[in-house]
Amino acid sequence: MTLPDWQSKSILNITESILSEYPPRVDEPKDRQMAMVLLDAVFHDEGAPQRSSVQNFHLQRTLSVLEEIENTKVSTGVKIWKLYNMGVVIRTKTVTVAFDITRGHSSSSDSFALSKEVIDRLATHCDALFISHFHRDHADEEVAGMFLDKGKPVVTPPDTWEGKEIYDDVTHLERKAHEIQKLRLNNKQLDLEVVVYPGHQGANILNNVVLVLTPEEYSVCHTGDQSLEEDFSWIDKVAEHHEVDVLIPNCWTTNPLRTSKGYAPRLIVPAHENELGHTIDHREAYALNYSRWDVPYNKIIMTWGESFHYNP
Ligand SMILES: [Zn+2]
Repeated sequence: MTLPDWQSKSILNITESILSEYPPRVDEPKDRQMAMVLLDAVFHDEGAPQRSSVQNFHLQRTLSVLEEIENTKVSTGVKIWKLYNMGVVIRTKTVTVAFDITRGHSSSSDSFALSKEVIDRLATHCDALFISHFHRDHADEEVAGMFLDKGKPVVTPPDTWEGKEIYDDVTHLERKAHEIQKLRLNNKQLDLEVVVYPGHQGANILNNVVLVLTPEEYSVCHTGDQSLEEDFSWIDKVAEHHEVDVLIPNCWTTNPLRTSKGYAPRLIVPAHENELGHTIDHREAYALNYSRWDVPYNKIIMTWGESFHYNP
């Protein structure tokens, strides 16, 4: 083992013990903040995705989420699990919904990526997958295929996987601000209510911003890589149409304060930190969340493999 490998392994070990002692919470103790900043130090090493310690951290923490998902019943509120990049799973009493789940090949290291077996287990316990846009840190055709094989709907914008075989099996809901649509969940024999906001990454990339309204009347919004100023025409008005319980934005989105006010959520859980496929200056540190998301709304900073039970 090289010295940098040994060092990153040592930091991850102590960080994990701090994280388990201080799980995600709104009033975050300094110890936990220090752990998040230590993760930045490990992930901001150019070679991080190639290090076995980082690959192991990703795998083990995903496996621990899987075990929780396989064994957790939610009777009230919303359980939120955070995975790599913007991968998120939410569960209420009746539904389990996944967003932007990938194996992690976008990290530029195939050894960092998860196996099909791991994703297969995950897909077994979810009812639907929403993919915000076609970039491979959000969209993974193999993952979508596994959901579809199990009869679970996969929803993407209309320009994801155009011309590919999978395209016709994917659900393309209308991108329309504030309007509730229904997504059939055959395995649960119910219709899930969703709003697909017509978002964009930059001027040209279609990015679905999905608000899921669960049968228990909780609402969770996942923004994907939302980053177009003009879209504030509808972002500014979301809260006038829907009560948002949990907002899961890309941590680097355009104008976090205006975004927060638009959704007026009860809780913000930023995501997309430390996507290892980017050069280190664009890996988006956890540490930046504390200033960027210094907004008058509750927020929780989480890393891969953590969960939070939202129970208002
Ligand atoms: Zn992205």
